[in-house]
Amino acid sequence: MTYVVLDNVIKRYGKVLAVDKVSLTVNKGEFVVLLGPSGCGKTTTLRLIAGLEIPDEGRIYIDGVDVTYKEPAERDVAMVFQDYAIYPHMTVYQNIAFPLEVRKRKLRLSKKDIEERVMRIAKLLQIDHLLDRKASQLSGGQQQRVALARALVREPKVWLMDEPLSNLDALIRLQVRAELKRLQRDLGITAIYVTHDQVEALTLADRIAVMNAGRVVQFGTPREIYDAPRHVFVGTFVGNPPMNILRCRPSGDLMQCPGFTLRNPGVKNEVYFGIRPEYIEWSTKPVEGAVKGVVYVVEPIGSEYIINVKLDSEALIKVKTVREVTLQPGDEIYLVFDLKKAVLFDSETGAALS
Ligand code: ATP
Repeated sequence: MTYVVLDNVIKRYGKVLAVDKVSLTVNKGEFVVLLGPSGCGKTTTLRLIAGLEIPDEGRIYIDGVDVTYKEPAERDVAMVFQDYAIYPHMTVYQNIAFPLEVRKRKLRLSKKDIEERVMRIAKLLQIDHLLDRKASQLSGGQQQRVALARALVREPKVWLMDEPLSNLDALIRLQVRAELKRLQRDLGITAIYVTHDQVEALTLADRIAVMNAGRVVQFGTPREIYDAPRHVFVGTFVGNPPMNILRCRPSGDLMQCPGFTLRNPGVKNEVYFGIRPEYIEWSTKPVEGAVKGVVYVVEPIGSEYIINVKLDSEALIKVKTVREVTLQPGDEIYLVFDLKKAVLFDSETGAALS
């Protein structure tokens, strides 16, 4: 069921086109992540949904209602920012209860109702043992959980988050990330989450909208985004290391790529051949159909290795493998691409060809 809709939304700041004809549909209970580099328009898109900005063109709907010109308070959304603000002089309980206290008449809540709701959310976020503490006496991770609890306690229609984990240290970030996802599932809340961190996007999202230069370049499940990028930008922005991109020239029935040839699928112009580093098999001995290269450098990354391979004087590609690598720079290596996983992109528009 469609719940949040952006229909051709445009937002300009003077000459800057921050959001350029963005259309998105978010389903009820879905977790959607807006992913993209700095300045691509993610935060502006979120602020438009929250009602903190008004679009120049286009419409925004929440739960079937046109909210384009409605005030933030009329939209029933909760927003959590990167630099969360909690009230340091209040206790954790008072912080979390605050949004309910200010609305208790409107929501017809008794003291007991408020207590129950605060307890429920505090338990879910594992801060129920801290309720009597002053907020100023908490660690950064605990403070962030209080901020999340406060945003969620009134169970808004839509939960909007702008890099809410970026101020946390790495270990706590992983912990809160998992809790966030669990909580969103348990409460069935519709969530829209902004990040430039692809790992966060891939782990949290039901669907990811990859943005670049104010536009949504692709909107799909993490699997689709990862395995079937519709644009070369998506292939190179998502993945660590990103997709390898090689230039190939058509020549009759074949495509001339660096160090190898491919069957020409019928293109007339130069294309980009994209292959993810883990979809390349390697061997130290010649194998039929393999592409010969020379090891440039090997980077061990814990349980995996990245082998950097030169295919010719210009093309360097990365191979990701879990097999132990004892290769040295200068050694010969034979690569077999899993062509089912390869993607061809138009070199002018960047769009995927099939
Ligand atoms: P980041 O990850 O760095 O926060 P972002 O993807 O969230 O980036 P936005 O903050 O939405 O990007 O900004 C999109 C564009 O709009 C940028 O070029 C930015 O400089 C511009 N912009 C954003 N807010 C304003 C503003 N209030 N006034 C003028 N320009 C703005």
